[in-house]
Amino acid sequence: MQNKINKTILAGLTLSELEKFITDIEEPKFRAKQLHQWIYKKPASTFDQMSNLSKDFRNKLSELAVITNIQISQKVVSKDGTIKYLLEYPDGKRVETVLMSYQNRPNLTACISTQIGCAVGCVFCATGKKGFVRNLTSAEIIEQLLAIQMDTGLVVTNIVFMGQGEPLLNYEETVKAINIINSEFEIGMRRITVSTCGIAPNIRKLTELNRQLILALSLHAPDSELRKQLMPIENKYPLDEVMEALKFFTRKTGRRVTIEYLLIDKINDSIEHAYKLNSLLKDLKCNINLIPFNPIKECGFKKPSVERVNKFKEILDLGTKKATIRLERGNDIAAACGQLAGDQTNSIYTNH
Ligand code: SAH
Ligand code: SF4
Repeated sequence: MQNKINKTILAGLTLSELEKFITDIEEPKFRAKQLHQWIYKKPASTFDQMSNLSKDFRNKLSELAVITNIQISQKVVSKDGTIKYLLEYPDGKRVETVLMSYQNRPNLTACISTQIGCAVGCVFCATGKKGFVRNLTSAEIIEQLLAIQMDTGLVVTNIVFMGQGEPLLNYEETVKAINIINSEFEIGMRRITVSTCGIAPNIRKLTELNRQLILALSLHAPDSELRKQLMPIENKYPLDEVMEALKFFTRKTGRRVTIEYLLIDKINDSIEHAYKLNSLLKDLKCNINLIPFNPIKECGFKKPSVERVNKFKEILDLGTKKATIRLERGNDIAAACGQLAGDQTNSIYTNH
């Protein structure tokens, strides 16, 4: 791919594609490997930082290529260390990407986006409220990761496809991005999570790839009736069909799926809902991740009290599945789940 002034964009190129680029510009092939290291592993933000490349070669690279075209338009750091980036592509479209670190773990998790906006329109989600703008290409998805690495100088260890958009409605590009993350960044499949609202046919398609990645379903209701009210996708791919697709995944890959269940005060968080959830998930090989609702300005739902959340979990603990309550990250900077609106209407941003 080339940018406006015909420079080659290196982000997302595999080692063999970099080798082709290097041979095309009449440089020795081994240079590709060095360049690859600097782009994905070190990570360098300019060619000048690539200290084991000769000055002439670095100058030539600057004339012919860019590492990425993405710009950090804004960046904000939470009290808990979570960083939220507002990133801009050359067409002016913006996307949000979040980096989470944990005090007692060496993991660095990037929460990345696959679309600008989202067409699914779940009633509780800030991204959904904005509607769909466009799909991202695999290279654009990768650029989010590079932007984080280049800005922090750190190497990301885990990826969650839980930013803006529905990954399985941008299936081909998401799968391409997963492959690049696995082969070029060398992040293991078991450290990559794809979260979906339940696009049943594409869960099956993904299963056929037989990858060891983590599949997460945004369930959010224990029955079809309630799910329809929260997630319009239920009309297209009803719960039965989605559950069958998940079982196909667990059978074929031998992997447990993650069930994400948003707890919204007095909507889906009663004791009855918890019992219903136990029986729905009885035959599914899964873990349950409870997410207390993060308030967004576009909808009147509330976060349940700690007591209600704990009570709900206690009932799940009577079942056979392991349930955990998701650690809240970046809440003070609207970087928590579902709060990514992809613009700067939010006053918490500071200039980068
Ligand atoms: N489209 C995919 C992935 C992005 S959303 C999906 O829906 O799974 C990532 C997660 O954030 C999903 O589980 C989603 O349901 C959840 N989420 C959306 N809005 C939220 C909110 N206001 N509070 C907490 N979680 C939310
Ligand atoms: Fe789209 Fe996921 Fe938000 Fe639903 S929760 S609107 S699928 S991003």
